[in-house]
Amino acid sequence: MRIAFTHVRVFDGEQVLAPTTVLVEDGLVARVGGFAPPAGVDRTVDGTGKTLLPGLIDSHAHAQPEDLTTALRLGVTTVMDMGGPSTAEDRAVWAARPGSADVRGAGQPITAPHGHPTQLFAGLSGPGVPDPATFPQTSSPEQARSLVDRLVTGGSDYLKFILEEGTVLGAPGLPLLPHDAYVAGVTAAHEQGKLAMTHAQTAETWTRAARGGTDALMHLFIDRPHDDRLVEAVASSGAFVTPCLVLVRSFLGTAATEVAADPRVSGKLDPVWAEALARPLSTWDAPFDDALASVAALDAAGVEVLVGTDASVAVPTTGGQAHGVSVHHEMALLVEAGLSPVRALRAATSVPARRFGLDDRGRIAPGLRADLVLVDGDPTTVIDDSLSIAGVWRGGRESFSATA
Ligand SMILES: [Zn+2]
Repeated sequence: MRIAFTHVRVFDGEQVLAPTTVLVEDGLVARVGGFAPPAGVDRTVDGTGKTLLPGLIDSHAHAQPEDLTTALRLGVTTVMDMGGPSTAEDRAVWAARPGSADVRGAGQPITAPHGHPTQLFAGLSGPGVPDPATFPQTSSPEQARSLVDRLVTGGSDYLKFILEEGTVLGAPGLPLLPHDAYVAGVTAAHEQGKLAMTHAQTAETWTRAARGGTDALMHLFIDRPHDDRLVEAVASSGAFVTPCLVLVRSFLGTAATEVAADPRVSGKLDPVWAEALARPLSTWDAPFDDALASVAALDAAGVEVLVGTDASVAVPTTGGQAHGVSVHHEMALLVEAGLSPVRALRAATSVPARRFGLDDRGRIAPGLRADLVLVDGDPTTVIDDSLSIAGVWRGGRESFSATA
């Protein structure tokens, strides 16, 4: 199968190319720019007035199979699951279904006994709602190491650790993973050649994670404004950050109602997810501008900021996010924090591909997977255009077309 995209503006994951031709062959990008549309292709897609993007990557979600379908419909071709019961085999089966995004996973996150997120699911049941007892819980270094071994044996692509004492969740006093157990777990992950991701939402837990050798800070500290010392500690650790501003906004009391009502979104969302978007969590009181300023300060210090949503299951204890949709919302919020649209797009394409070692995607370049999103307009100057999806291809297979 050969597909030619013609007259199309290209964001190749790094830079913007003036309208040109992109050729896809057998599921891979074959050529980018500098040639006339070739004869004998199976399909020609006229990209006049449109922009071709690499498939988007959500660097923080918790996905069920149906969520991967929603994600793909919204241009998200790869989902990094940051905690869930799926095994490597499950994920391979899910991702092989037509119309599904690809997925990588941490397996279940390692937390303290009765620690976050067990409280979110206590007493709840329903599709995708995990049994709190299934979370790996420990307070000892030895057990943390053996939990890492068990997760890696189960096919975890990376490990996830929870440092959450509940402050900004409206649940202060949650049991916190002891520092020696946390460091032992992170060290064990590195010994196994895996990245260690850390959930942390306060300045203190961020500092602990940065000192403990984490590769990534998932979420943002929102218990206080940023200061130079904290920003410097993170910058010198080399960790990347997925601030999940969509979730921060919800914690701080603002719903994503306008996102749910966007006609480009509403037709692609199950009503239960439209409701979830419109449900602010309102667990913490602080100015959202402080969160935006924290992201700007991290970015200015050279910390790599990635697009993540923390979209999970639609239960009353979650709200403000939805699979797929919130990747676009997060990019818009990063622009609000001061990143240029091009840098917000990089944060959902080439940067996560590099940080997670996904060498076959994240850019539009010869030899890489043809994971592509075609949008009307130009999101490299107006980020909101990213939602004007005209087509999605995963591995060269057309998965969704706005015109079909
Ligand atoms: Zn999460």
